[in-house]
Amino acid sequence: GDEEARRASMARRGLSAMVNQADNKLLKPVRLVSSRSLAKARPRIVIVGSGWGGYSFLSYIDKKKYDVQVISPSNHFLFTPLLPSSVVGTLEFRAIQEPVRTVRNLGAYYQAKALSVDENTRQITCKGIFSGDEFRVEYDFLVCAAGAKTNTFNTPGIADREGKEVFFLKHLHHARQIRNRILECFERAAIHLTDDAERDRLLTFVVVGGGPTSCELVGELRDFIRNDVAKWYPDLQDYISIHLVEAQSRLLGSFDESVAKIVERRFRRRNIQLHLGASVTGFDPETGITKLSDGSGIPTGMLVWSAGLEQTRFVQDGLDGVEKGPGKRIIIDDHLRVSDPDNKFDNRFFALGDCAINMETPLAPLAQVAGQQAKWLAKAFNEAPTGVGLVAPAAQVFKPDSDPFAFFSLGSMLTFGGFQGAVDFTQVGKQNEESNLGALSGFLSFAMWRSAYLLRQNSWTNRILIPMYWFKSFLLGRDISRF
Ligand code: FAD
Repeated sequence: GDEEARRASMARRGLSAMVNQADNKLLKPVRLVSSRSLAKARPRIVIVGSGWGGYSFLSYIDKKKYDVQVISPSNHFLFTPLLPSSVVGTLEFRAIQEPVRTVRNLGAYYQAKALSVDENTRQITCKGIFSGDEFRVEYDFLVCAAGAKTNTFNTPGIADREGKEVFFLKHLHHARQIRNRILECFERAAIHLTDDAERDRLLTFVVVGGGPTSCELVGELRDFIRNDVAKWYPDLQDYISIHLVEAQSRLLGSFDESVAKIVERRFRRRNIQLHLGASVTGFDPETGITKLSDGSGIPTGMLVWSAGLEQTRFVQDGLDGVEKGPGKRIIIDDHLRVSDPDNKFDNRFFALGDCAINMETPLAPLAQVAGQQAKWLAKAFNEAPTGVGLVAPAAQVFKPDSDPFAFFSLGSMLTFGGFQGAVDFTQVGKQNEESNLGALSGFLSFAMWRSAYLLRQNSWTNRILIPMYWFKSFLLGRDISRF
């Protein structure tokens, strides 16, 4: 019955039935996406991931010269620096993403997860995110920009409660979940049957991690509560508290200390409770208490975990022959090729962004690193001779004696609420060079932050939408509907 129906359905969908010899049962269907005749085809570059690295590469690569295909479970590029703003509705979700399919001359897009790479047949095995069916995509060149995922360090209660009281902040759907949870907490607390202790718990928001993303989220949360919630839930004001937990003794470890001091001072003045030098040891779903290493506990309505990164399953388990460095990041050389002492990948496999590391010049997991690497690699491909990679050795992508990739830091920026921001120029310039430009903070830095990110937008849609939403939330407040 079932087996017959499955066979018939596979035949209708053009999938060849593969049968396990031992028990004559159907195996998961595997389809090879379009085998090509070498003569007609342009070299095919397959990009894994549509984030800062993948999407930037896709934008810059010459799609008339190469058949460029993208595999990613996200059908959009997400402008991560603006993600904290979308959590509380300063910006709407639509305004901070770009659909992959709107890139002109895109060869193909597969909404799927890459599972593994076979370097002998030059095929990537993927799993469609809707059907779960497996299929393979052939490549001449592979650019892996699969990013990284949130690392909970196996802290008890964190991964188990994800999407309930605990949230990550990495993808667009996370921002939507957090916004809904905040509003759920307010609505639950507003019901007259809720007692005071429960109200206190529901309206206690804990952010874990003291990096720029957490500080921006805390700033946004505080603005939202002060400017919008005060208007719509005036009776709940006294119950609200925001906690920021950081294991190090200071916030913003990657910024100049002067910036960290300013942010800490401002947060304290705005009644944000800082727990520095403390780490979260667990979350108890029964009591809703976040446990800290100093023995204290915070009754919590919502916890956002933004405290670490680990590699995706694809990078950890799907790349057998690939050398891995610290945190299982893919080791790459100075031309972004995966380290390949036995030449198994024939110089056809590149990796960049958060999933890759060059052991001689390790770079932080930053959007500007992934973006610059992607642009540099796309330029090399664009300048390479036509036809490279089909039959010719792939080493020809780079001209002999071509310069290696070199990162140029543009400095770091953040906002921390109340129209305040900070710009840290202390590391502007070539990698590991100190500059004397110092750091700025205040309204001017906030304006620089907004202008810089507005200028970085790829589409006119977002260049129009973003200032519109900024203006709308300044003038008319943020949206507080749950959906
Ligand atoms: P990502 O941009 O994470 O993209 C990875 C892509 O791979 C995604 O599309 C994902 O869906 C896809 N993928 C994952 N697994 C698979 C698979 N198995 N198969 C196929 N595709 C897969 N950096 C800054 O420099 N400045 C900032 O202000 C800043 N703010 C940030 C704010 C937030 C909230 C976050 C989360 C990050 C921020 N960052 C910032 C860091 C920056 O976003 C990352 O360093 C950057 O996104 C790395 O780019 P990437 O291409 O390596 O990975």
